[in-house]
Amino acid sequence: MKQYLLYDDIVKICEQINENHLPDDGPFTKKIDELFEQYDDEKAPLQFILKAFLELLKLVDSEIYKIEQNVNIRPTCAKGCAHCCYFPIVTTKLEAKLMMEYIHRLPMKEREDVLEHLKTYFQTNQENLQKVCSIDFTEDVHFKEKYISKQVSCPFLDLKTNTCKVYEVRPIPCRTYLNYGNPRVCADSYIPDEPFSYEFFYEYYMQALNELIQELLYNGQELDFDYPDDVFTFDYLPALLQQEVQKNRLR
Ligand code: SF4
Repeated sequence: MKQYLLYDDIVKICEQINENHLPDDGPFTKKIDELFEQYDDEKAPLQFILKAFLELLKLVDSEIYKIEQNVNIRPTCAKGCAHCCYFPIVTTKLEAKLMMEYIHRLPMKEREDVLEHLKTYFQTNQENLQKVCSIDFTEDVHFKEKYISKQVSCPFLDLKTNTCKVYEVRPIPCRTYLNYGNPRVCADSYIPDEPFSYEFFYEYYMQALNELIQELLYNGQELDFDYPDDVFTFDYLPALLQQEVQKNRLR
């Protein structure tokens, strides 16, 4: 029978990470420099920001992988397991916009599939979405439990396959929350103790994205979103996506 790490083992590994393997922002600032080396100011700034967004998301994955190598662990999360896709995913307005921009650049068949999926999702989940999206994540310390208990899936979760329709651009919370124990714990409890979150990467990622946008502004580029509002306005992903879907219908 497969042996999984137990809660106590995971706590010890967390301590090891905190003591010896906490990263700094070096790889993120380096990535921004690399991106500007390939920057073409003839192209629309949003295209460049989308590329940077994808690269920074990938960088978070690879930095997590480095830590895992250092402490010799691998996630037990598997394709088709989607318990955390019922969690409240909070993103910025810009991230939701970039996710939609990514969808609009997909090959036609894929794009239509995702857009149709979103349309059906918002039509069928309106009532539940109103309930969960009105939970105040800034003030209510129990917002996570309250949101999860309603079991409203993420707009991007394909309920037939239990997989993410936009895996390549899934936002930071989906990448940084990982289980190293028995995968059963996620089925047995809404908020299990075993998984942990590499949320410290969020600051580096946000800092890098913001730095990149500021550099574009400094170079005289005009942005087709509101700065700084869209970069620093947070909300539940379904709420932000719905606004983007509505805006796109009008464009
Ligand atoms: S974006 Fe994808 S991975 Fe993240 S919660 Fe939604 S379906 Fe799951």
